[in-house]
Amino acid sequence: ADTLVLENDLYKALERDELRLHFQPQFDCATGRISGAEALLRWEHGGKLIPPSDFIPVAEETGLIVAMGEWVLRRACVMAKQWRQRSGWPLRVAVNLSAVQLDQADIPALVSQVLKETGLPPTALELEITESVVVRESLRAADILTQLRSVGVSIAIDDFGVGYSSFAYLRELPVDRLKLDRSFLSSVPDSPGDSRLVAALIAMGHRLEVGIVAEGVETKEQAAFLVAHGCDEAQGYYLGRPMKEESFEALLMEHGREHASKPLAHTGTSTTDPPP
Ligand code: C2E
Ligand code: MG
Ligand code: MG
Repeated sequence: ADTLVLENDLYKALERDELRLHFQPQFDCATGRISGAEALLRWEHGGKLIPPSDFIPVAEETGLIVAMGEWVLRRACVMAKQWRQRSGWPLRVAVNLSAVQLDQADIPALVSQVLKETGLPPTALELEITESVVVRESLRAADILTQLRSVGVSIAIDDFGVGYSSFAYLRELPVDRLKLDRSFLSSVPDSPGDSRLVAALIAMGHRLEVGIVAEGVETKEQAAFLVAHGCDEAQGYYLGRPMKEESFEALLMEHGREHASKPLAHTGTSTTDPPP
């Protein structure tokens, strides 16, 4: 019965304007500066903020994810355009796509339309597709990714490393970035085995000319490890939590100023680390 109630309420979430986006900053490891922001969906319902894991599966089963995903894409592009103008910062925004959207919607057409509507340059948009989806729908996925690439947006493979993709296949895909699943990072740098694996994946990314984004950076030690091993980008609670639009805008405006504190710039070899 719970699922039914949820399902009915979920149908109304869009028309009642109950969907929200939170944005989590992504940092360039070499410069310590913000490179992008991942848009993460929330549902403000019954006085609570419901996380995506609690309603996205239902939205996928019912097909509602198609309309919701379109809302997410449009909202993320509108905000990115606005923030780029206000801050002068060349922010990139990342939007998660569901397998159901790939199946049921003409994503390349939708993406070009939304970019045109909002005036956001294609290079400022990244689309994230989970590795397991790419593997499961390999032929279709490759076709859609190629079409999206020709629109000019970039493509990231999400939760990379746990979805059993073959490297031979990956090499053929038009992919700009691999987002290392956060399970890889969780015991870095304490576990020598995991640390070597992450270092090897970063090196592999460089050789294949795809960017590596480390997800789930929760400690200063993890951030320092990534900087030391030349990881391209990093994202995680230590660097910045997913936050409301107003808070993200404030962060970006502050960040644009010359001497604003940059969490990654203070890692590495510095011996006088400021408090976190
Ligand atoms: P994801 O795309 O892999 O997003 C990263 C998730 O990890 C987010 O959870 C984020 O809040 C969380 N996270 C970020 N940094 C850390 C960290 O340092 N430690 C830990 N433990 N977690 C961290 P969230 O927001 O609950 O989203 C969960 C999943 O829901 C996302 O995983 C994504 O697959 C899906 N999702 C979120 N928004 C959308 C959307 O608009 N559309 C679709 N189709 N899926 C979405
Ligand atoms: Mg993601
Ligand atoms: Mg992920």
